[in-house]
Amino acid sequence: MQDAKREIRSLLPEELEAELSALGEPAYRAQQVFSWLGKGVSSFEEMTNLPASLREKLANAYLLSRPELVRKQISAQDGTVKYLWRLRDGNAVECVVMRYSYGSTVCISSQVGCRQGCAFCASTGLGFVRNLSAGEMLEEVLFSEKDSGVKLTGIVLMGIGEPLENYEEVLRFLRLVNHPRGMNVGMRHISLSTCGLVPGIRALAEEDLQLTLSVSLHAPEDETRKRLMPVAAKYDINTLMDACTEYFRKTERRISFEYALIRGVNDAPRQAELLAGLMRRTHGHVNLIPLNRVDGSPLVPGDTRKFAGLLREQGVNVTIRRRLGADIDAACGQLRRKEAT
Ligand code: SAH
Repeated sequence: MQDAKREIRSLLPEELEAELSALGEPAYRAQQVFSWLGKGVSSFEEMTNLPASLREKLANAYLLSRPELVRKQISAQDGTVKYLWRLRDGNAVECVVMRYSYGSTVCISSQVGCRQGCAFCASTGLGFVRNLSAGEMLEEVLFSEKDSGVKLTGIVLMGIGEPLENYEEVLRFLRLVNHPRGMNVGMRHISLSTCGLVPGIRALAEEDLQLTLSVSLHAPEDETRKRLMPVAAKYDINTLMDACTEYFRKTERRISFEYALIRGVNDAPRQAELLAGLMRRTHGHVNLIPLNRVDGSPLVPGDTRKFAGLLREQGVNVTIRRRLGADIDAACGQLRRKEAT
């Protein structure tokens, strides 16, 4: 009955404490177990400060594994590393370790596949399989850090999948990875990117976390946004901006609006003006993404410097995202699940 076992890496310290106490163990044992889990052990045998009898009890009750490394590609241009990890059930997920002068960040997936169907994204068309558990997301971080040998200082939930569609597990993951006795990654070093699921943004505002919320906007008017992102038919820009304004009011954290510039689609001066208006309304800033070409797609990149100039003239705070790992298809929107054979 392998499958009946619960995945131990998804448990929060207080849950672990309650469960171990039911097994007749004192609270400090749960703390020891939690620390081991956060160090990336992949068997109970490695928890050497636990009595053998407890290790056996745990192994009978819980699942503890590690993803298998299927493929690893290193960018010759900038040292970006892309990983393909195989999960217990055979599905594979991709994540990317990016090196910056100030530290290293891992970009992780939150789902196997994605169902948002954005026109410009390489994940579109590959189908949605399932949500990842909190433990599986933690494993992406833990084992990418271990394998790459670089100390990770930041995490971005910007890989494959829509994190706010997997809300409960993503929140659990954030609490696990942020825990002082776990990996202890500060919330201010974590970014979460959403295609704009309004109920999720509203719920997240109530959690009062200090993470950075990124919202994929990509167009300042509904007509264009609907052409690019099916989610726009569900939540119009006005509704989305209301939720974003409320998010800022509650958390006092500025939202970063992602905008992949596409020639002739969303790069007109009028669109810069409209976008500037939305930024004034939400107190947000724009993160311009140079569009990454996807095979078979007719969409071509716009001139990011020029568009950034137009936005700056309107007083908008704007950054242009660097294209890391382009030579290994690791740049934004290029991750795709490849069958792990
Ligand atoms: N589901 C989340 C995470 C997606 S990926 C979301 O929608 O925000 C992270 C960012 O990359 C998103 O802003 C996404 O819109 C953008 N992106 C996807 N494909 C891209 C491409 N081909 N070029 C540039 N950016 C892209």
